[in-house]
Amino acid sequence: MQKLGRNVGGYKGETIDIAAVLRDVQQGALKAGWTFEAAPTAEGIELHTWQRQPAQPRQRVYLSAGIHGDEPAGPLAVRQLVQENLWPPDLALWLCPCLNPTGFSQGRRENAQGIDLNRQYLHPEAAETRAHIAWLEGQPAFDLTLCLHEDWEANGFYLYELNPDHLPSSAEKIIRRVAEVCPIDPSPEIEGRPAQGGIIRPSVDPRSRPQWPESFWLLTHKTRHSYTLEAPSDFPLASRVAALVTAVRTAVEPERRA
Ligand SMILES: [Zn+2]
Repeated sequence: MQKLGRNVGGYKGETIDIAAVLRDVQQGALKAGWTFEAAPTAEGIELHTWQRQPAQPRQRVYLSAGIHGDEPAGPLAVRQLVQENLWPPDLALWLCPCLNPTGFSQGRRENAQGIDLNRQYLHPEAAETRAHIAWLEGQPAFDLTLCLHEDWEANGFYLYELNPDHLPSSAEKIIRRVAEVCPIDPSPEIEGRPAQGGIIRPSVDPRSRPQWPESFWLLTHKTRHSYTLEAPSDFPLASRVAALVTAVRTAVEPERRA
């Protein structure tokens, strides 16, 4: 699979009707018996959240998408995952299908005020980030958090793993499975960080960084294990969506004992 060569200086690919995608998510989630909760912002924007709560949860997983409005594969992957509804029966899930609705309406990375929401989580000023954190503070701790993204410059799929306690990692398995549906970025350095076979394991202490992404807030407040999954925007949208769907499915798969 070749790069499309379309993204020059930024994302130039497909856009989505985010309201329609969120309606599809709602329809699928209600059909599956999930619970809705709105996280309303001070500016009247409503962030949607959904919960899947089995009686005896084995694993508590948080999944978010759409924090960057020029990354359509995340919300589309969420829609597919919700519609297919093929989760491990004992998986509890907290889902935020789109954290930046105004960015999608304008087809840009930032929100309508021009703020990159994924740099807001240490000093939140954007209404969306404040509402998101307020909602998160009311939720329990998660065993695993997954944040869906795209990278318009990437040469293939890659992921960040934050795993300070060295819990069993699925990173290599995720890469193996995604490789069946989408190229993996083989670069030894991605976004200025050392990478190996599409895996970046930043050693950085969140406290030393002034601009926190969502994953840093999650790691310091709600979880000890996080993956940020990055689909390559210069490849066909269908393979980017397949990459994120495959990555999520693999990450939540129960461990098989050999
Ligand atoms: Zn992103």
